[in-house]
Amino acid sequence: MKEIEIRKLVRPNILDLRTYNAREIPCRVKLDANESPYDWDSKKVSRVSQTIKTNRYPDPEAKALRKTAGKRFGVSHDWILQGNGSDELIYYLITTFGGPVLYPIPTFSMYGIIARALGEKDIAVPLDAKFDLDSGKMIAAVKKDRPRLIFLSSPNNPTGNCFSSVKIIKLIEASKGIVVVDEAYQPFSGKRGFLPLLKNYGNLVIMRTLSKIGLAALRLGFLIADPRIIGEVNKVRLPFNVNAFSQEIATAAMKDAKGLNSTIRSIISERGRLFAAMEGIEGISPFPSESNFILFRTKHAGTLHHRLLKKGILVRNLNEGLRGCLRVTVGTPMENTAFLKALRSSLKP
Ligand code: PMP
Repeated sequence: MKEIEIRKLVRPNILDLRTYNAREIPCRVKLDANESPYDWDSKKVSRVSQTIKTNRYPDPEAKALRKTAGKRFGVSHDWILQGNGSDELIYYLITTFGGPVLYPIPTFSMYGIIARALGEKDIAVPLDAKFDLDSGKMIAAVKKDRPRLIFLSSPNNPTGNCFSSVKIIKLIEASKGIVVVDEAYQPFSGKRGFLPLLKNYGNLVIMRTLSKIGLAALRLGFLIADPRIIGEVNKVRLPFNVNAFSQEIATAAMKDAKGLNSTIRSIISERGRLFAAMEGIEGISPFPSESNFILFRTKHAGTLHHRLLKKGILVRNLNEGLRGCLRVTVGTPMENTAFLKALRSSLKP
């Protein structure tokens, strides 16, 4: 076999990257990935799937899907761009506008990973002690580095809180680049989202996903923005990026607003119960959440993570980026009760 030195062929910015850690860890109760514990109606899924012609390409413009998404978000379909998950839309945004890419940390890691994969400069500014934006430092970075893109996950993953709206607006006004408010967790938030502000700010882009509301398997995200922005990003979109099954099932599921919204309400209510119970447990401090997960701090995060897993409960260990922190996704009432029981016994000396 002809031997070649692969690493010499790889672009330098890729050599230093690490593969995104999305490993499957076997467990009884899976509370690590911010998924919904409820899937959408399986009978309807099979009925919709039967209408699909597997020999044909999917609609490259996903017209029905965008129209239905437009209704859900209160905008016309030409304000919407479909992605194979919002991950893909982050790729497209950075491909279209380039860097520097500015974001606060800790936050969703893909903003930085994709910026670096595309060879763009990324700038990470730490959040303040309350996990809110550090306005002074963010505005200073805007002035100094002139980022072409700013990513703000609000509610923020992994901290769970929304950033102050006033601070976000300040950034949108100070920036000459695009500001993306990633509202992946907005369905679980009691705070107003940024959709109503789209008409006021030509550089504002909202990102939404169906992954947190019971449809993660479909891989579907949406950009919502002025058609002039959508038109530019659409140039780099792969022609058939969303497959036919995802288009059809997501369109039907979004039309079933009642079904989707009732699972969201259950998760919000369980989040309240879980948070109150966690507040009463000695040895951990949970942070308030506007999302479908709760971040909590403890003394020995690694040990606790390991002990929970031994009892079959998988949560996310964030100890590397956020000292002493773990993140638990809100599950069904039974899953949450199992988590609380395992947590209490794992914390005993
Ligand atoms: N944005 C945020 C803030 C997230 O936490 C996630 C998922 N972890 C995503 C985007 C990616 O969502 P999708 O499944 O639509 O790619």
